[in-house]
Amino acid sequence: MSAFRTAAAVVDALGPEELDRRIRTRTLTDLRGIGPKTGAAIVQAHAGEVPEYLARLEEAHGELVPLADDVAEFRSLLRGDLHVHSDWSDGGSPIREMAEAAIGLGHEYLALTDHSPRLTVANGLSAERLEQQLELVDRLNDEHAPFRLLTGIEVDILDDGSLDQRPDLLARLDVVVASVHSKLRMPGDLMTARMVTAVRDPNTDVLGHCTGRLGGRRGRPESEFDAERVFTTCREHGVAVEINCRPERRDPPDALLDLAVELGCVFAIDTDAHAPGQLDWQHSGCVRAERAGIPPERVINAWPADELLRWRSTA
Ligand SMILES: [Zn+2]
Ligand SMILES: [Zn+2]
Repeated sequence: MSAFRTAAAVVDALGPEELDRRIRTRTLTDLRGIGPKTGAAIVQAHAGEVPEYLARLEEAHGELVPLADDVAEFRSLLRGDLHVHSDWSDGGSPIREMAEAAIGLGHEYLALTDHSPRLTVANGLSAERLEQQLELVDRLNDEHAPFRLLTGIEVDILDDGSLDQRPDLLARLDVVVASVHSKLRMPGDLMTARMVTAVRDPNTDVLGHCTGRLGGRRGRPESEFDAERVFTTCREHGVAVEINCRPERRDPPDALLDLAVELGCVFAIDTDAHAPGQLDWQHSGCVRAERAGIPPERVINAWPADELLRWRSTA
């Protein structure tokens, strides 16, 4: 398993263009830490076949494995994860299992962010189901203190930029991740207006996987939008730009991540985990954050929970 982690770190450090070139020219295995077997797995992953396969592997061997020192140090500063799903929407596991896996990783908190009603394919939660979930989270928190399960949602950004849940209910939550999941190919000017409206919504805390890109064979290109305007709006309205760690997402891409750093944004390094083993995916986001020169104090999930909640109420 550690071979895969090493390989993941090496691949992260390459960047997408160099990775493409290495795969094309069959020179992956020239790199230190990448043998023939791992090389084959990387090629498969690049073709989009792996996320599930790796997820199963990681679930079976979910232990922490040493990383490069600086990345390990960065990872150790993260106190929680602000984007995860349970079997209440399209995740595979009960809330309790997600929480206990997070405790096992040493997290101080975990924000449960199941999908919103309009994402019916993902069994998005109606207002009623979300209210039921809040009661369950309360009970789990009594059991697991001092660990904190934060209430939350990954709310769909609708075509006009409004959010797909009752505002009063959104206001009650600890963390609101807003993401585009539909009409990803709309013209750039409309997409920009849509995202800016969502970021300005006082309930939005994190802009989820901003380009919507998906790697691999079932790939999807990046949505078109004016990233400078969107990220500037994020900075002005105290909304964190998510560094989504899912292997098929790795969103935002490097150039946009650099732009967001330059514009002074804060970030959330989130796994978007749909299973307990995936909670460990933060390392790839830490590799990217390190490389982009993001100081840990600009990563909101490196903050203590109380500070995070204060920021939410004032931002
Ligand atoms: Zn999403
Ligand atoms: Zn998600």
